[in-house]
Amino acid sequence: MESKKYVYLFSEGNASMKNLLGGKGANLAEMTTLGIPVPQGFIVTTEACTKFYEDGRKIADSIIEEMKNAIADLESKTGKKFGSTENPLLVSVRSGARVSMPGMMDTILNLGLNDEAVEGLAKLTGNPRFAYDSYRRFIQMFSDVAMGIEKRYFENVLDSVKEAKGVSLDTDLTADDLKEVVVKYKEIYKKEKGEDFPNNPVDQMVASVQAVFQSWENPRAIVYRRLNDIPGDWGTAVNVQAMVFGNMGADSGTGVAFTRDPATGENVIFGEYLINAQGEDVVAGIRTPQPISKLQEEMPKCYKEFYDIAHKLENHYKDMQDMEFTIEQGKLYFLQTRNGKRTAQAALKIAVDLVEEGLLTKEQAILKVDPKQLDSLLHPTFDPAELKKTEVIAKGLPASPGAACGKVYFTAEDAKFAHDKGEKVVLVRLETSPEDIEGMIAAEGILTVRGGMTSHAAVVARGMGTCCVAGCGEVSVNEEEKIFSVGGKTYREGDYISLDGSTGNVYGGAVKTQTPEISGHFGTFMKWADDIRKLKVRTNADTPRDAKQAIEFGAEGIGLCRTEHMFFHEERIAAVREMIVAKTEEQRRKALDKILPMQKGDFIEIYEAMQGNPVTIRFLDPPLHEFLPTSEEDIADLAEEMGLELEELKNTIASLHEFNPMMGHRGCRLSVSYPEIAEMQTRAVIEAAIEVKRRHGSDVVPEIMIPLVGEIKELKYVKDIVVKTADSVIKNSGVELQYKVGTMIEIPRAALTADEIAKEAEFFSFGTNDLTQMTFGFSRDDAAKFLKDYYEKKIYESDPFQKLDQNGVGKLVKMAAELGKSTRPNIKLGICGEHGGDPASVEFCHEVGLNYVSCSPFRVPVARLAAAQAQVKNRK
Ligand code: PEP
Ligand code: MG
Repeated sequence: MESKKYVYLFSEGNASMKNLLGGKGANLAEMTTLGIPVPQGFIVTTEACTKFYEDGRKIADSIIEEMKNAIADLESKTGKKFGSTENPLLVSVRSGARVSMPGMMDTILNLGLNDEAVEGLAKLTGNPRFAYDSYRRFIQMFSDVAMGIEKRYFENVLDSVKEAKGVSLDTDLTADDLKEVVVKYKEIYKKEKGEDFPNNPVDQMVASVQAVFQSWENPRAIVYRRLNDIPGDWGTAVNVQAMVFGNMGADSGTGVAFTRDPATGENVIFGEYLINAQGEDVVAGIRTPQPISKLQEEMPKCYKEFYDIAHKLENHYKDMQDMEFTIEQGKLYFLQTRNGKRTAQAALKIAVDLVEEGLLTKEQAILKVDPKQLDSLLHPTFDPAELKKTEVIAKGLPASPGAACGKVYFTAEDAKFAHDKGEKVVLVRLETSPEDIEGMIAAEGILTVRGGMTSHAAVVARGMGTCCVAGCGEVSVNEEEKIFSVGGKTYREGDYISLDGSTGNVYGGAVKTQTPEISGHFGTFMKWADDIRKLKVRTNADTPRDAKQAIEFGAEGIGLCRTEHMFFHEERIAAVREMIVAKTEEQRRKALDKILPMQKGDFIEIYEAMQGNPVTIRFLDPPLHEFLPTSEEDIADLAEEMGLELEELKNTIASLHEFNPMMGHRGCRLSVSYPEIAEMQTRAVIEAAIEVKRRHGSDVVPEIMIPLVGEIKELKYVKDIVVKTADSVIKNSGVELQYKVGTMIEIPRAALTADEIAKEAEFFSFGTNDLTQMTFGFSRDDAAKFLKDYYEKKIYESDPFQKLDQNGVGKLVKMAAELGKSTRPNIKLGICGEHGGDPASVEFCHEVGLNYVSCSPFRVPVARLAAAQAQVKNRK
């Protein structure tokens, strides 16, 4: 049997091999084929990474052999040799997963340097200072990234040598000074590792590849994967590439550029570079780079070549490209290209422009925008009138658009902690690093003192759709004391500031925000999505306000109106409590009489807001623990209201205590015990519809939904009450009105007997919150506490309450849909659990043939796009 290949030369791959070669590797191979100047190299595949873990975190000898052969090939292509004292081959080692994971994985540069090769490099370049500077950088990176030795040991040595020499900048150190640094660095290595720094380039390479594989499982990579739905078993590839040097003098440099502006989508080359700098200097945000337009003045020939290749790449990939390049003594090289990360605004503009430029069809364009990204466009922006009233205390770079207002925190940990307590947080840092990811996720906005538009903070924030102001040098931050000052004023932890990620302005105080609307490119793009999709999108809305918002976001009806949620207000909850604790039918009817007008009023406004679109009203489903009064004061108030003795009421409340309220006396079970509840609700639903018809002459077809059904007879029992009440109200009104009665499928038994249930139900709506809870057998209220252990131990990769478990819960959905249709072929099928707004789950709903998904108003546009993408993908 021919053995499997784990190492590919760039010349052996292409862009379609992303799963095997990783995104970066596949694109390097593709660029090689296109004849673009790329320093040559090879890729150790993602399968080698998977094997590394299968083999107990060990790289197989046969793979090491393949790597050595690839090095031999590289040596012959470049005419250089590993460890040579004449013409040494130096390589970079970088990670490259299928999709880019910015800042998540680690890079090692200048690999191949040792005590001999450094002399070779000095001779070759005639620049011993450069050679020793490269060597000391390599030792530091290898020690830190591959061997886990803390950076600060090396930084301290560098600082002390600078101090001893009386210089302040690294660039003021001479070759001899750097030789001294190298000796000291190696001492650190020996002290920390108990062995000499590896002199053999092959050993260096194997250790580095191993380190990249290991970094796939580092905590920040795991967090990023969970956030972006990236499966843990994909693994990462490793790219080993011949080094080119951007730090060989004034005719060298390195940069990062995008073919279009990643913040606005404008069709102009956008980027930054640094003269005489290496690799990560630009993205690390330590020196502030020059805009790419300057390159046109400084090196016109290189710029022209760069510009032409950039366009060639964009046309080839039919998408905006994010490229890294290096100029070594006047010669341009491309080190990487990939589809660039962009803000939601930019994504929409680029998608629309690419169609108008004839590069993409509308269907292809639909796939270019991540539905989850739209979220950032749907959240508030600053109210301009409010802005005028608040002082701009500083201005930085507009790194990621949006508005943020929150309390200042200075560490990722503090930010996360405050966020978990329910605070709105702005994370203020000198600069961010991948360790800060959880704090960045928690923050409304991020402010950094250092770094450009491609700094870690900027790139990651744009990817997450979080507002970010970067490179705000006017602000001086003292992270230890947890204060920052600007313009003579000091801000402390917990003080409010506001950030505008579109202008870079920082405001000293809280600024009120306003709701956005869907217009411009967003509107055009969403129209295309709507034309393509088959799945309808409704909303879960319990108030007229939410219903109006959802209509603005394109909802085509209400899929779930949770009537118990209409009573969360203080002035209303008493009536519901009264109903719950009522001991006699008379007491209960008294409470229901108070509830009826409130419900009817809300329903009228909701029907009006929905402008003739269907409205599904779910009958009361109050888990008792959420509604019973607990404080002495509330209990006393209720007793007074009901004319009861305090003790008597307390006893009633105690008797209503349930050990497992989620599985308790809720949903249709309440109406089975107390039919007058269903009676009152039917009256409210139908009377409101009649009223709207009278007022506007327009038809409303209310859909009454009975929750928590598990048995056909219980559905029939409640339905009979509904039909009897509704028909009599309609008859008495003299108005003609249609209505439907259906059920939620949220109890496994309902799914299992869906063919029977469909005899009574005119529609099903999958309540996948309860269906998930009851299929897994873990409580919605408590699971979060232990599910984190399941993520850590890789038992689950994502939260089944957010992303539908297609294999288990999904199987029940599919089966129930089929059973339902077998009884009632035109049965209407929808979903109204949280999953209705999750793109992957929406795709599943499309595949199993549901008619609509229903989700919270802010996720309606997300679901509309996800539904269109599902249609395009299915058609393919
Ligand atoms: C559900 O269970 O999925 C559902 C939508 O109902 P609720 O979340 O109100 O229980
Ligand atoms: Mg439910």
